Amino acid sequence: MCMAAEIRCTCGSKSASFHFRDNILSDQTVRTLYCPACSSDIRIDPVCMIVDNGWVIEYDMDIVQFEGHKIPRSPVTPVILFDEGYCTWNGIYPGDHLDSVREREQIVSLMKSNPTRYIQEMKSWAQQRMARLQGEGWRKAQGGGSSC
Ligand SMILES: [Zn+2]
Repeated sequence: MCMAAEIRCTCGSKSASFHFRDNILSDQTVRTLYCPACSSDIRIDPVCMIVDNGWVIEYDMDIVQFEGHKIPRSPVTPVILFDEGYCTWNGIYPGDHLDSVREREQIVSLMKSNPTRYIQEMKSWAQQRMARLQGEGWRKAQGGGSSC
């Protein structure tokens, strides 16, 4: 089961939905979230932070230690938390889960009227979208990591 949590950035202008693989960690793991607007002045500390296309997640490593004893990795680093899905975007980037539903709406309307075309359109949509996100530089679009 996948739990998602919505977390707001420090300047308050944006929020991101998070995914917690196997529900090992909770939203308490995210100490601070910075969107591209509010991340410009901060100093990046790789011991507790991960950077993704201007967004920065600062993890509370004490809580990670406390809640994360079930993670079969040692030491647990921000890279593992993010890339292996223990505390990461719900989707490829913040807002992905909302955008993808909206983008798919038109294609979904084909499902009943033209199922063959529906499948083709879905495939090419997914491919083009991934190529676009790769070009934009999103971390999860690069390696084809796990998703929910
Ligand atoms: Zn912000």
